[in-house]
Amino acid sequence: MTILKIAHIGNPVLRERSRELPREELALPATQTFIDDLVETMRAANGAGIAAPQVEHPIRVCVVHVQKNKRYPYMPDIPLTIMVNPVLTPSTSDTFENYEGCLSVPNLRGVVERFTRVELSYLDRRGVETKQTLRGLSAGVFQHECDHLDGKLFVDRVRDTTSLTTWADFEQFHKQAFVDKMTALVARE
Ligand code: ZN
Repeated sequence: MTILKIAHIGNPVLRERSRELPREELALPATQTFIDDLVETMRAANGAGIAAPQVEHPIRVCVVHVQKNKRYPYMPDIPLTIMVNPVLTPSTSDTFENYEGCLSVPNLRGVVERFTRVELSYLDRRGVETKQTLRGLSAGVFQHECDHLDGKLFVDRVRDTTSLTTWADFEQFHKQAFVDKMTALVARE
């Protein structure tokens, strides 16, 4: 497997709408290998998720996997989920404030408003139609990844720019308050 190069903010590939992946193209060995490489790249970078445009491949594929994540230790585990042509619909108007980061925006985090519950439909890597409901912090991860497929980065959604922080300063100044809020959210959802 290959670790792919991650595109950083400023690279135009992160700003385009990625194209739908037809079933026939999904079934190709080259596409299946690409999906394996995408998962491997996410793991090597300790990401909670990654989207294909982040490795300069603008197709509608993204993956999420959280298992005792080093970058986000407070996050509940999410099994490996590979989404092709995902469609995400909020199923509540309730939102929460998520402190997000992104592999394509090095050393920056900021507060973003996300829906607390979303419905997701997508093709899995075999082309099987799949539906899922996501809540709380997990719902935030999926919203972040699906945004990438539309050329949107978390920084576009940061309303209070005074929340922007480096990772080290997040640890020092913001983490405890955020973790306390998220623990309450996880318990509620
Ligand atoms: Zn991202």
